Amino acid sequence: MKRLFVAFFVLAAVGTARAAEPFTVGTLTAQPGEKVSGFLEVPAGVDAGTRIPVTVIHGAKPGPVLALIAGTHGYEYAPIIALQRVRGQIDPAALSGTVILVHVANMPSFLSRTVYYSPIDGKNLNRVYPGKADGTVSERIAYTITTEVIDRADAVVDVHCGDGNEALRPYLYWPKTGNAELDERSKQMAVAFGLDHIVINTERPADPQASVYTDNTAITRGKPAITTETGQIGETSEEWVRLAERGVWNLLRHFKMVAGEPEVAAAVVWLDKSEVLRAPETGIFYAATKPGYTVAQGALLGTLTDFFGNKLADIRAPFAGMVNYVIATPPVSKGEPLAMVSRIQQ
Ligand SMILES: [Zn+2]
Repeated sequence: MKRLFVAFFVLAAVGTARAAEPFTVGTLTAQPGEKVSGFLEVPAGVDAGTRIPVTVIHGAKPGPVLALIAGTHGYEYAPIIALQRVRGQIDPAALSGTVILVHVANMPSFLSRTVYYSPIDGKNLNRVYPGKADGTVSERIAYTITTEVIDRADAVVDVHCGDGNEALRPYLYWPKTGNAELDERSKQMAVAFGLDHIVINTERPADPQASVYTDNTAITRGKPAITTETGQIGETSEEWVRLAERGVWNLLRHFKMVAGEPEVAAAVVWLDKSEVLRAPETGIFYAATKPGYTVAQGALLGTLTDFFGNKLADIRAPFAGMVNYVIATPPVSKGEPLAMVSRIQQ
């Protein structure tokens, strides 16, 4: 009887301690019921350093840790604005669990207004995960986010949109690994976010030391994750910002971090095969399609010309499906994306 009583007392004490423990990310510490903003410092190394603006919202009640990462690509504004709104909206006193908001992951790209690549090292932040402590700045940003944010989270969302040059129809990626339990948790997140087009992505690498992508860094560490795409070509329109904002609130409801049920799509279009068409040469791209259009196999997606207007190549749909995005501004370099087409699951 005495032993039972002791066991009960210890359990209760642990529960209370957990609820009352502060939560630390980098040098930021939030007490339960507190919201704290500041910077994760990425010190100078082989090239210039940078800093990552982060908010930690630590709920008064215990619950999961949800990390939301915006600005992996610095010209993707709608999700960045959505997370600023969410920072103001979430009441830590009414929150169960903890939200980590990464407001602008890639500050060099954001301030220099570059698409895809860092102006400092020329690398794509969403291709260098899990990063390196002694690498170039994109690798050091990735390392900081892996160790300070993803390692601390129970679930991760990388919020993107069409980059500064990409016209895009809203959709998200559900990374599917073959681990049924993890896949189901990510799928539930994918549906809960509330978009009506979901790309089933089965081609992410499995090695946690070469995870490449933000979402896959979480996935290869056993945590559910999705990548969302809401917005396009540098726009900040309400419709795009609202999609990301609503998605975040849907996930907070899904994880029972706030009251209520997520507003999910009435029906989802599942996209089970995708291909990114890439520029065979450097030149000027003229799109012949629009995001969200359905296309037959062989349909013209656009034409690539040289700098005098001479045609270099017609870019055609490799199979019948939907256009996720298409490049909507003229310059393209060899190897860069021109369009993405996805097959609609039957
Ligand atoms: Zn992006």
